[in-house]
Amino acid sequence: MQTQRNSKKKEQDSIPQPIRGNDGFEDRGPRNVLLDQQNPDLLVPPATDHGTLPNMKFSFSMAHNRLQEGGWARQVTIRELPISKEIAAVNMCLKPGALREMHWHKEAEWAYMLWGRARLSSVDQNGQNFLDDVGPHDMWNFPAGIPHSIQGLEEGCEFLLIFDDGNFSEDSTFLITDWFNYTPKHILAKNFGVSESDFSELPTDVDHTRYIFQGEIPGPLSSDEVPNKLGERSFTYHISDLKPLKTSGGTVRIIDSTIFPAASTIAVGIVDVEPGGLRELHWHPNTDEWQYYLEGNGRMTVFASEHTARTFNYSAGDVGVVPFAMGHYVENTSDDTPLRFLEVFRSPHFQDVSLNQWMALIPPELVKEHLDVGDKVMKSLRKEKWPLVK
Ligand code: MN
Ligand code: MN
Repeated sequence: MQTQRNSKKKEQDSIPQPIRGNDGFEDRGPRNVLLDQQNPDLLVPPATDHGTLPNMKFSFSMAHNRLQEGGWARQVTIRELPISKEIAAVNMCLKPGALREMHWHKEAEWAYMLWGRARLSSVDQNGQNFLDDVGPHDMWNFPAGIPHSIQGLEEGCEFLLIFDDGNFSEDSTFLITDWFNYTPKHILAKNFGVSESDFSELPTDVDHTRYIFQGEIPGPLSSDEVPNKLGERSFTYHISDLKPLKTSGGTVRIIDSTIFPAASTIAVGIVDVEPGGLRELHWHPNTDEWQYYLEGNGRMTVFASEHTARTFNYSAGDVGVVPFAMGHYVENTSDDTPLRFLEVFRSPHFQDVSLNQWMALIPPELVKEHLDVGDKVMKSLRKEKWPLVK
């Protein structure tokens, strides 16, 4: 009985209440306690939060999931998260051997492997073909309109696809089976120089397309290569080739068109924040930021000018957005778990402006006169970029 009472009390203690000092009062329900526990800074915002700002968080766990024989796919677009005008994303999983059907789309596709391995194929406008295998943390980019396929290897795989338009829909890509099924048979016959009966067995799965379907696990990469006299152009980038920038609070890896020319419209920072560390106060002078949380738990406050600021909590599988030019930080709220996330920009280049570096590189008197701060603050400023602090 005693133990039961203790566990009941413990349970009540872990239920967060909307109380901050003398402000607020107990929430006796109805309420969704699990969501309140995941969003402590919505239930009890920092006292510095103020004003009206749009929602800047959506979780893939809240998105419709399309399950098929070969795996699944779900998307977060402008329809799920209206503030995300520039970027849409798809989280996809393929079983061993399963294929994401040969297709193309109007948007560029940048991707990050979450686990497992995949084989990619493509042919570009010059008739150059491309074939490569990717593993955990590797990336790829297919420019807009360039056809491609993705196949899960021995253990299957899961990845994140990023498209350079918030309106993108994974359900409206150009699928090879779709085109075959909506072209007159005599045109197919003439196009390939064969007879109509050669196309009598076209797939008639759901909607006459395959989308994600089970295939055979392919052999080694070399056995799949199709010889071609054209030169090398890479649509993949392997994480092992990326140089990390290490600072006191963690690590940033920046990948944009300067080192990966195929990614001409999407720039990404892979950010690792140590327990208790902080992605410093900064903003981006070029475009919105779109975020995907890979691991751990974090908190971000977005400063929107005019006395407005709003704080959100993020965990693995969540998406965040920072509208153009708004100031922000991302804090790892855990004492023992790293926070890992992607900063994504619809831009050929990764660009950020550091509040600290700005203050360090202008006349100190100017800074002092604005903020009434003393030498201790002035001495703490850094002239070099230092994206992660602790
Ligand atoms: Mn695609
Ligand atoms: Mn940022």
